[in-house]
Amino acid sequence: MMIDLRSDTLTKPTEGMRRAMWQAEVGDDCYGEDPTVRLLEEKCAELFGKESAVFMPSGTMSNQIAIRCNTAPGDEVIIHHDYHVHFFESAQTADLAKVVLNPVRTSNGILTSKEIRDALESKPRSAMYAQVTLVSVENTINAYGGRIYPFEELLLLRRETERLGLRVHMDGARLFNAIVATGIKPTQYGKVVDSLSICFAKGLGAPVGSMLMGTEEFAEKARKYRKWYGGGLHQSGVLAAAALYALENHVDRLAEDHANAKRLAEGLQSIPGIILAPETVETNIVMFDVRQLGIDAQEFVAEARGEGVLLFPWARYTVRAVTNLGINRADIDLAIERLKKLCSRLRQERRGNRYCDYYGISS
Ligand SMILES: *Cc1c(COP(=O)(O)O)cnc(C)c1O
Repeated sequence: MMIDLRSDTLTKPTEGMRRAMWQAEVGDDCYGEDPTVRLLEEKCAELFGKESAVFMPSGTMSNQIAIRCNTAPGDEVIIHHDYHVHFFESAQTADLAKVVLNPVRTSNGILTSKEIRDALESKPRSAMYAQVTLVSVENTINAYGGRIYPFEELLLLRRETERLGLRVHMDGARLFNAIVATGIKPTQYGKVVDSLSICFAKGLGAPVGSMLMGTEEFAEKARKYRKWYGGGLHQSGVLAAAALYALENHVDRLAEDHANAKRLAEGLQSIPGIILAPETVETNIVMFDVRQLGIDAQEFVAEARGEGVLLFPWARYTVRAVTNLGINRADIDLAIERLKKLCSRLRQERRGNRYCDYYGISS
């Protein structure tokens, strides 16, 4: 049996979730008449202490519409180079909101208030030039192994952006992982940003859906753009029912995913050739480096598939594994065993050219 650790988007709706979808009361949401969608929107707005919430088909649409609503064409958005909005959505952002992204690189994936100020002051800002109106952060941070944005940094960032007159959007595709890991309340996160999005189709295990939250005025605009972009759905209560079920049943259990990720990280760290610091694993994502095996991430992932473990090649030598509700502790132990066997074979096969590869010399 394959152990699929590629992503937490790969979960399938559980029986209980399918039952909730089956039983959902629905109406046409484009007429504001789907009671299940309305219930989910009200519940989320209350949970995060925001005035209003808009149910979106995907996390990407939430981000794109958040940027569109928080900026004017030609504005500049300060962001980290490795956040989803820049890493995967830079073309969409240029095309749809017609803003420029100012991607900042930091070694830990966190943007401090000083880095925001530096990015702002790095160019002339008089009325002739691009105006920074938005800062976009991500929590947890996918590219940095599901790292939690330190709350004290968010507070400082909030204070600084208020002083500078900038808005803040939080891409919270995995915000519930941070909430479960830290015990910080959703309303506290709601307070430090202007808009935020969460995803139901990541660790929460729903098939579809995201929620975009902000002020009443923001939400009204977001509904307009959702329609423009083709995201106005009709009897979407069947999808909202899955999300409601996920909120009730799949939030607390994220702690299991975190424990499994930690176990996986510790197991992988003990394998010679794999570079990994288990203390960096804070939630459900494990990133590790395979260059010492004389192999790149693509090749490693292909080899692992042959051994019955599915992984995601994140960067040239970086491989990603994500725990989720379809993975239990026994799967983790089996995955470690299979990867141990694979690495042992790779070390034997590649001993000859390993140093050549490592130093970038073609062998
Ligand atoms: C997955 C993800 C998204 C996009 O979500 P989709 O529903 O796949 O469009 C956005 N941001 C982050 C950080 C993500 O991990």
